[in-house]
Amino acid sequence: MATIYLNKQNLFSNLDKISKINPNILAVIKDNAYGHGIFSISKLLREYGIRKVCVRNIDEANLVREFEEILIFNPPTNRNAINFSYAINSLSQLKKNRHPYIHLKIDTGFRRNGILEEELDETLEIIRQRKFELRGVFSHFCCADEFGCDTFIQYDKFLKIKEKIEKFCKKYNIKCPYFHIANSAALSKLPDTLDFVRPGIAIYGGIDGYEPVMSLEADVVSVRELDAKEGCGYNKTFMSEKKIKISTIDVGYADGIPYFTNGCKLKDTEALGKISMDYMIVKGEFKKIVVFDDIKEFVKNFDTITYDILVKMSPRIKRKIIESDNGNSVKQSDKIHS
Ligand SMILES: *Cc1c(COP(=O)(O)O)cnc(C)c1O
Repeated sequence: MATIYLNKQNLFSNLDKISKINPNILAVIKDNAYGHGIFSISKLLREYGIRKVCVRNIDEANLVREFEEILIFNPPTNRNAINFSYAINSLSQLKKNRHPYIHLKIDTGFRRNGILEEELDETLEIIRQRKFELRGVFSHFCCADEFGCDTFIQYDKFLKIKEKIEKFCKKYNIKCPYFHIANSAALSKLPDTLDFVRPGIAIYGGIDGYEPVMSLEADVVSVRELDAKEGCGYNKTFMSEKKIKISTIDVGYADGIPYFTNGCKLKDTEALGKISMDYMIVKGEFKKIVVFDDIKEFVKNFDTITYDILVKMSPRIKRKIIESDNGNSVKQSDKIHS
């Protein structure tokens, strides 16, 4: 049976690192906490002291109600009785909105969603007249993981808008919202990360400088010997040159591992040939296999990003929290011989 282990020590070390930059963290736990499991991650975040989170939609918000503030990135337009915060992603959404607590998203250059600069006056007027509680104002970077000046152009634009909003709030004696713009990649780039930071992938250790939280382990369900010049798996895309032992493990592309046709590097061995829906064949004789324990390494097998693999890990796989690093958190494939 495949199991996903969540390394609490690494998670906390990532949160420590982020806290040193800015202790006010709006932790992004959208999409099942980037595939890690929203319940397990929420439990750990609360234990760490995180009080505010961002989720994708209202269904996710309802799963984690214990947090002090829950910002829903893509909320419905109807009023919800619960104290959630709704992101306002466009002027037309604001006009339809009936929920009292909002965070205004500003399009500073991503061109995906958010209020445009020229819509700001009308937007603030609606907020004032309809007495929405403007809790936050935010924007999102498109190129924070690159060199170049896009991030700083967006940042400057955001600061300008921040000033305008602050003036407006002062004028009408409205409580000033808090401002947040820094995603993971921007954490170490900005001169000032403003009131709150809004990291996702850094929490889970999917970018450089942070420790991986997820590892995936699977059981060996059968072992056999492959002859020289014998192939294995669908279409026999792997052909052995010599006699070797092979093991079949009980995890496949149905569990979220990206499809591959010509092998894949695992932590202590390699998968051979094509991945099956529920199985992979690996080289060597094992009882257990660590498929990956650092997504930053595993992703190199594929033409994709760490986010994409993590977020698709099947929610059916059992999640287990590893509490402390006393030896059993460093998982090794249980090798017999190869
Ligand atoms: C997903 C998301 C984040 C987190 O981004 P990371 O790159 O994972 O840090 C922050 N803000 C918004 C609006 C997002 O959609």
